Amino acid sequence: MSEPVNTLTPWLRQPLAELLRQRGHAWLLQGPSGIGQYELALALAAAWLCEQPVEEGGAACGHCASCHAIEVRTHADLCVLMPEVAMQELGWPLDEKAQSDIDDKKRKASREIRVEAMRDAVGFAQRTSARGRGKVVLVYPAERMNTITANALLKTLEEPVGDVRFVLASEAAWQLLPTIRSRCLGFTLPWPETAEAEAWLAAQDVPVADAAQLLRAAGGRPSDALRLARSGQSPKAWSLLPKAVSRGDVGALADQAPAQAVVSLQKLCHDLMAVGHGAEPRFFDAADLPPAPHKLALARWSKSLAAAARTAEHPFNAGLMLEALVSEARSTLNSAARRP
Ligand SMILES: [Zn+2]
Repeated sequence: MSEPVNTLTPWLRQPLAELLRQRGHAWLLQGPSGIGQYELALALAAAWLCEQPVEEGGAACGHCASCHAIEVRTHADLCVLMPEVAMQELGWPLDEKAQSDIDDKKRKASREIRVEAMRDAVGFAQRTSARGRGKVVLVYPAERMNTITANALLKTLEEPVGDVRFVLASEAAWQLLPTIRSRCLGFTLPWPETAEAEAWLAAQDVPVADAAQLLRAAGGRPSDALRLARSGQSPKAWSLLPKAVSRGDVGALADQAPAQAVVSLQKLCHDLMAVGHGAEPRFFDAADLPPAPHKLALARWSKSLAAAARTAEHPFNAGLMLEALVSEARSTLNSAARRP
């Protein structure tokens, strides 16, 4: 379920050392998704709370009582604020009431950070530290706070009580209240080197032969590439996808959930726009792409995909939605293809 807190991906080790050197009490870790904001935030929290850090002010040891408590998700001085779906996905327990409401189907797990959870966090921030090494509030993804939740957090950030520190991790920091951003020290995660990312994927049991292609399909984001690998995305199928879609072959997207299919088509649309402007494609190999259609057709398609993305989580009928998506892709890709 959980990995030892001291096994950080190689491209996050240097950022962690930098963060620990600077000793801020409220950090906002930002950058594109899939490069490790959450992992870095957790490693920072673990280092702050560790009873025997590797060196003074260094990374967490990974074996003291505090590190162990984080590993098993029961640290009394760490408060994790996430949408319930993210907590479930990342193996964090929900509070009893929330869990029983969801088990009893009274409501679905939330996709936002709930006001109730924020109230608990404010209470947590005011209590004394249980293990004597201060307390940490970790918020991820921070852009999933609504205005009410964000304002509650803001009050606590403005008047920090005693020994509490904050680490907010965001994949869309521009969506945060400016007042929240200005209360935190900002830190932008660096992109991992391709070789580093491929080596890491190989260490996660992704076949070496697949790593480069999956990384490309994920736009260079290693954790997204790993998610693709684990969801059974075949690199071969990915490379065949553009031409299959332009033939109207629904099978090309058949093993993807509607939301995932929309993202795949957005990647294809992005690459065709890039190629149309004389730039390199990002997600597909240039040789696998059909000729770029007219840029107006692509712009229309891109807009329509953005609209589809808003309903794709709860489609009326998943099969029909896939058919509609492929049909539109096909007509776009076959509309007045540009002469080479
Ligand atoms: Zn430790």
